[in-house]
Amino acid sequence: MFRFSEKQIEMMIQFADDIKEKIYTPKTPLNIEGYTTKEPLHFDRKTEGEKKTFKPGDKWGDVFDCCWFHITGDVPEDCKDKHTVLLIDFNGEACVFDNHGNPQRGLTNGSSSFCFSLGQPGKRVLQLSNDAKQTGKIDIWIDAGCNDLFGTLCKDGRIEQADIAVCRDDIRDLYYDYWTIRELMQVLDKDSARYARASRALYEAMVILHNFDEDEVKRARDLLSKELSRKSLDPCLKVSAVGHAHMDLAWLWPIRETFRKAARTFSTVLDLMGRYPEYIFGASQPQLYQWVKDEYPNLYSKIKEKVAEGRWELQGGMWVESDTNLPSGESLIRQFVYGKTFYREEFGLDVRNLWLPDVFGYSASLPQIMKTCGVDYFMTQKLSWNDTNKFPHHTFYWKGLDGTAVLSHMLPEETYNSNAGPQSIAKSEKNYAQKAVSDRCLMLFGIGDGGGGPGAEHLEKLKRLKNLSGLPPVKQEFSSDFFEHLNQDSANYPQWHGELYLEKHRGTYTSQAETKKYNRMLELRLRDLEFLATVAMQNGWDYPQERLDEIWKEVLLYQFHDILPGSSIKRVYDECLERYELLLQEVQQLTRDALKSLSENKNGRFDASSNDIAVFNTLSWKRSEWVQTKYGWLKAEVEPMGFRCFKKSEIIEESFPLKAERKLLENELIRLEFSEDGRLISAYDKQAGFETIHEGSKGNTLDVYTDNGDAWDILEDYQKLPSESFKLESSSASLSGPKAILEQTYSYGNSNLTQKIVLTHDSKRIDFNTEVDWHENSKMLRTKFPLNVFSHFATCDIQFGNLRRPTHTNTSWDKAMLEVCAHKFVDISQKDRGAAILNDCKYGYNLFGNVIDINLLRSTSFPGKEADQGKHSFTYSLLPHKGDLMQGGVAEAASELNSPLIINEDCPIHSESGNSLSFFDIESETAVLETVKKAQEGSEVVLRLYESAGGSSEAKLKSAFEIENACLTNALEEEICELKSSSQEINLSFRPWEIKTIKLKLE
Ligand SMILES: [Zn+2]
Repeated sequence: MFRFSEKQIEMMIQFADDIKEKIYTPKTPLNIEGYTTKEPLHFDRKTEGEKKTFKPGDKWGDVFDCCWFHITGDVPEDCKDKHTVLLIDFNGEACVFDNHGNPQRGLTNGSSSFCFSLGQPGKRVLQLSNDAKQTGKIDIWIDAGCNDLFGTLCKDGRIEQADIAVCRDDIRDLYYDYWTIRELMQVLDKDSARYARASRALYEAMVILHNFDEDEVKRARDLLSKELSRKSLDPCLKVSAVGHAHMDLAWLWPIRETFRKAARTFSTVLDLMGRYPEYIFGASQPQLYQWVKDEYPNLYSKIKEKVAEGRWELQGGMWVESDTNLPSGESLIRQFVYGKTFYREEFGLDVRNLWLPDVFGYSASLPQIMKTCGVDYFMTQKLSWNDTNKFPHHTFYWKGLDGTAVLSHMLPEETYNSNAGPQSIAKSEKNYAQKAVSDRCLMLFGIGDGGGGPGAEHLEKLKRLKNLSGLPPVKQEFSSDFFEHLNQDSANYPQWHGELYLEKHRGTYTSQAETKKYNRMLELRLRDLEFLATVAMQNGWDYPQERLDEIWKEVLLYQFHDILPGSSIKRVYDECLERYELLLQEVQQLTRDALKSLSENKNGRFDASSNDIAVFNTLSWKRSEWVQTKYGWLKAEVEPMGFRCFKKSEIIEESFPLKAERKLLENELIRLEFSEDGRLISAYDKQAGFETIHEGSKGNTLDVYTDNGDAWDILEDYQKLPSESFKLESSSASLSGPKAILEQTYSYGNSNLTQKIVLTHDSKRIDFNTEVDWHENSKMLRTKFPLNVFSHFATCDIQFGNLRRPTHTNTSWDKAMLEVCAHKFVDISQKDRGAAILNDCKYGYNLFGNVIDINLLRSTSFPGKEADQGKHSFTYSLLPHKGDLMQGGVAEAASELNSPLIINEDCPIHSESGNSLSFFDIESETAVLETVKKAQEGSEVVLRLYESAGGSSEAKLKSAFEIENACLTNALEEEICELKSSSQEINLSFRPWEIKTIKLKLE
C-alpha cells in the first residue's frame, strides 16, 4: 500500500506556513504618533499624554503603560483596486476607535505569552473603514496597553508593525482549506481511506503551488474542496459550539485593564459578526456588562442589538464568576440576585445557567442555591485539572448537600479556549464520558483568560467543520439550546453527590489573608446592618437600599475567582484592601445610624429609654455573654435577633472564680495547662470529665513549614519536609473581669507573634487572639490541635450547612483532600464528646486522624509579590464539648465568635414591651434565621432561613411586628405560595438542609 514518507508528511505540515506567509503583503508603512500616560485616559482626553513620534522597533512603554496612538497614511495607488488592510502590532493589547470615540475592533500582539497550543492569540489585521476605502486616507485612533493578554511586557514594549498591506483573499481561503485538511489528517486513522484521500489531496495541492498565481491557487483549492465536501451522514455525536472569551476581571492585571479588555474583546466580536453570519458568541458576568455600559455606551447598545437578534448569549446567572469555596451562602445568593436582576432589567432575559469554567472547586451547597435562584444548568471544565483522580463524568446530575440535583456539563475538551480545529473536535469526542447516553457536547472556542475571544481563524475553521467526514458535526448555537437538548436525554445520566472538590489550588483557601478577613467581616457586618436597618425601617428610618446594593456588588466583585482566592498580582490587593476598609467603615457608620434611629421616636414603635446601655444580638438564638461596657463588665442575656437594655446599676463588680498563671488557665468548667515552651498540653473539661488534648501531644503548635508553592498550590508533601516552630519568648498571666488571660510572645526568623489566650468565666471556649508581624518567604504558618477524640470524619462548616470530610486516606479521593476549605468551624466528635476549632477569618485545614491543623498564613511571591508580608490579627478558638457538634452548640459558638453582641451606650432604646425584645425569633431545634433584609423591590421584609443539622424540622417563626401577609418565595424573592400566618407567628416545616426564603408584609 502506498504511504507518504514521514519526510513528505512533514513537508506537507510545514507547507501551511508557506501559504500563510503569502496572504498579506505589506506595501507602505503608516505614520505613528502617540500620547503616552501611566493610566488609561478616555477618548476625549486622548491627546493629554506625552506626545511622541514612533516607528517600528521603537519602545513606547513599560508594562501597563498606556498610549493613544494616532495612525495616519495614504493608501498607495496600486492598492486601490485590491483588498487593502492594515497590519498593526504594538506588542501590547489595543483597541481601534472611530472618530466619535466608540470602540471598533481589538488588536492583540502576536508575541503574547498565551499558550499557542490553544490557538493563535494575535489579532493584527484591520479592515479599512468605508471612509478610508473611498478617500484613500487612513486616520485612526488606537487605545493601547503595554501588556499582552496575560499582563506581560512583550518584546520590551516596542512597536512591531504598522503597515498598509494587500490581502490575497484566494490565498487566505486556500490557507484555511489546507490547514483544515492537514489537521484532519492528524486525527484520522492512518489506515483509513479518508486519510489516504485527504493526504493525497494535500500533497497534490502542495505540488501545484509554486508562484501562487490565481490559476495555481484555484487548482489547489479545487482539489482540496473535494475532501472538504465529504460529509458524515448519520453522526452519533454533535458538538455545540459557542464563541467565548474567558475574562478574568482581575488577575495578572489590575481591574482597570479589564474595562479595556472588554472593549477590545467585545468590539472584535461585533466586527466579526458582521463578516460571519453564523457566528454565535456568549459572555458571562453582569459586572462586565455594567462596566461596558458605563465606559462604552455605544458598544453596549450594539451588544444589546446582537442579544436581541439571538446571536449574543448572556451566560451565567452570577454577578461575577465567583469563587464558591470561600464566600458565604448569602453572598452566593446575592451573586445570583444581582446577576439575574441585571440581565432581566437590561435585556429582559432570564439566564438559567451557572457559568463557572475556571473556578477552584464547587461547594456542596451550590445545587440548592442554584435551584432556589432559578438556575437549572451548570457548566464548568475545571475538574479536568485534578492532580490525582480523573473526574469520571462530563454530563451528570450534581446532587448537593440537600439532594437537590442540577444537570451539569464539563467540557470534554478540557479547555474553555478551544481553537475550534479538527483536533479539538476529535478530543471532545474521544474524551466524552457520556457519549453512550448523550449525543451532544459543548465546545467553547476563542482566546481567553485575558479576553481576546475568537479570531477570524476560528470562524474560518468552523465554516469548514460544520459537517466533515471523520469528525462529529459542529453547530454554533447558544449554550442554553445545548442544555435544553441535553435535558431531553436525562434519564441515563450518572449522578455525583456532594461537593465538586478540585484536587488542586488548595493554597487558595489561605493566600492573601487580609482579603479573606475583609470579605468575612463585610459579609457579617452587612448581615448585621441589613437586619438592624430593617428593624429601624419599621421605626421610620430610610432603608439605605441603593448604597447597600452598591456595597454588595463591590463585595461580590472581589469574590471573583482570582481575587478572593488570592491568585492576582499585588496591585489588585493594594487596591481592593483600600476599598474594603472604606466599605467596612461605611457599613459600620450605617449600622450606628440605624441603631440611633431606634432611639428616635419618628413614628412610634421605639424611642429613647431611661436605660444606660443597650445590647443587640443579631443571631437567631438567645445569648448570654459577658460584655465590657464603659461602665464595667456586664452579663448580657439577650433575646434572639433582639436587644436588652441595662442600667449602670446592673454592672457586676464581683471577682470571678478564675485562675491565670504562666502555665495554667482555669475556670469552673475547664482547666488548661501549658508546657514550658508555651504549648497547650491539657484542656481538661471538668464538667464532662474528659481530657481534650491527645495524651502526650501538644496543641497550638504554631508550626512553620517550607512552602515553595505559588498563590494557588501548596506542596503535597510539605509535612514531610523539615519544619520549625515559633519559639516562646515570654509569657504573662492576668485576670481582667470575667477573663483569665495568658499572654505569650513568640518569635521565628524575622517574624514575631503575640497571643492572648483567653478563658472566660462560664465558658469552655478558649480564644487564641493572635497578632503576627510576618516577614517570611516561602513559609507557611499553621497550628494544630491533636484531639483526644476518635472519628473517621470531621465536620466542616460550609454555606447553609456542614459537610463531613474523611480524616483518613483510604482511597485516592480521600488522600487528595489534603487541604480542605471550611468556614467558621471544623469539628471532630465521637458519640459522647468532641472538640471544634472555630475561627474568625481562616479557611484552609488539614484533617487527619484526630488532628485539626489550620493554615494561618502563607508567604508566596507569585502572582502577587510579597503576599501576606506584614501585620495580621485573627482569632481561632478551641471548643471542647459534650455530645456531638449539635449537642455541643458548635455552630452557635462559631457564629457568636464572628458576630459579637453589639453594645450601644449612646442611645438605648425602649419598646412598648419593655427593656427587652426579640424582633424575630425562630423556635426550632435546628432551623436558623440567617438573613433579615428589606425586599429588593417594595417595602416587605425578606427572611432567609435554613435547616442546619441535616434533619426534618418543624419551626415557629415569631415576629415582634404584626404580620399582614406572608409568602414563601425563591431566593430571588419571587412568590411561590402564600403562607398561613397568625398575627405574629408562622409555622414552617423544613426538610434536611433546606433553605427557605419568606417575604412578610408587616403592618
Ligand atoms: Zn479565570
